[in-house]
Amino acid sequence: MTTATLNKKSKKIPVRGMMENVMEQFNSASDHIELHPNIRKILSITNNEIVVHFPVKMDNGDVEIFTGYRVQHNNALGPYKGGLRYHPTVDIDAARALAMWMTWKTSLAGLPYGGGKGGIQLDPSKYSQSELERITRRFTFALADNIGPEHDIPAPDVNTNSQTMAWMADTYMSTRPPAERTANQHVVTGKPDGSGGLEGRDRATGFGVYLTIKFWAQHNDESLEGKRFIVQGFGNVGYWAAHFLEKEGAKLVAVQDAFGSIQNKDGIAVEDLFNYSKSNNGSIVDFPESKTLDKDEFYATDCDICIPAALGNQITKEVAPLIKARLIAEGANGPTNVEGEKILLERGVTIIPDILCNSGGVIGSYFEWLQNRNGELWQLEEVMPKLEKKMKESFEKVYAFAKAESLDLRTAAYCIAIKRIEKAYIQRGIFP
Ligand code: NAD
Repeated sequence: MTTATLNKKSKKIPVRGMMENVMEQFNSASDHIELHPNIRKILSITNNEIVVHFPVKMDNGDVEIFTGYRVQHNNALGPYKGGLRYHPTVDIDAARALAMWMTWKTSLAGLPYGGGKGGIQLDPSKYSQSELERITRRFTFALADNIGPEHDIPAPDVNTNSQTMAWMADTYMSTRPPAERTANQHVVTGKPDGSGGLEGRDRATGFGVYLTIKFWAQHNDESLEGKRFIVQGFGNVGYWAAHFLEKEGAKLVAVQDAFGSIQNKDGIAVEDLFNYSKSNNGSIVDFPESKTLDKDEFYATDCDICIPAALGNQITKEVAPLIKARLIAEGANGPTNVEGEKILLERGVTIIPDILCNSGGVIGSYFEWLQNRNGELWQLEEVMPKLEKKMKESFEKVYAFAKAESLDLRTAAYCIAIKRIEKAYIQRGIFP
């Protein structure tokens, strides 16, 4: 496709359902860069949507049927890349929106990847470890060649972890012809470090969240020492972000997870809370020397920085006016909806958008994929500086573009990400 063959008269694609947020963000950036209408059409829709129903034998001998999703949004820049989530809210609409966010994220980070996302609609707390293993293995088998190390590469997300990825890699490799088995280890990333995983992948997303906050502070001639922060979601992303911020002298003053909210204005020791939640079925509730809060009180906690690191659509028009923080660092994907964001921006709050803020995870995944592909084993000491370099490049690009074009950071990040994909389409054209 050359510019000359493109039809400039095409209209904006209408938004729908849960995709509303991501489509509004996409349309607003596309308007700003005057994205070619035909490329807007392509990027407004997902390439492939795989829905599988599969049976699994439970511990009591009964068979349960599960529904799994894998949405592949776009692969103009490389194989589809993105996590798998195990949660009752997983459905086709959520998977579409999350897959789209991945396309922008990988593009912004300058990686040779597209975007995909998926998962299984279930509450993992209702299943034993051996049931979760059989569910994961059967899901991998059902996805079959819809995933692959050069085609679509899943990773951990909410309620999935390195163990889930180890089961997936093992199942995928076991179902290949014998001579191809070990060469397929990079079908998933986020594996344990004894099974092809990358040293530091566990902390990569949270470290990246912390780095973007540090870069923001540097641009404002501020130090993180003494800054008070609150975290929603104390899982992989929330814990590691808090860990690195605390090391820099910042103070964690409130936390919310799926079970409740706690606060201590004098500070909550991050490692103590992590160890407590591990021994308390993953819940932070009733942590000693903390006050229990309700959901709204959590958001209203006096602080400098708010890190949503749980689910999407959390900072809405109801919640946004309560927030005291000057900075929102989006560890989660899509935590601030369009209405919530509008209120925050009007109040002068800065938002480091998800596709920049939590991109340390997919950058770490890219390093793992390269390591497996090249038969190498990278050390933590080389991983972390490489990750910091890439995060810094992305942050500075977004910050400079936002300043130059008088945009908020999200719109700036989207503009950069979409322009890169547009360039690939213009260069390659549309088959046939
Ligand atoms: P996780 O499963 O390790 O942790 C999720 C946390 O959120 C838990 O503490 C859980 O209790 C809490 N939570 C769940 N529902 C909640 C609710 N309704 N209210 C408050 N808290 C709730 O997941 P994670 O890997 O840390 O992912 C968190 C977010 O970060 C997700 O949006 C995910 O898409 C995004 N993300 C993760 C990665 C990664 O590498 N893991 C990378 C990029 C983005």
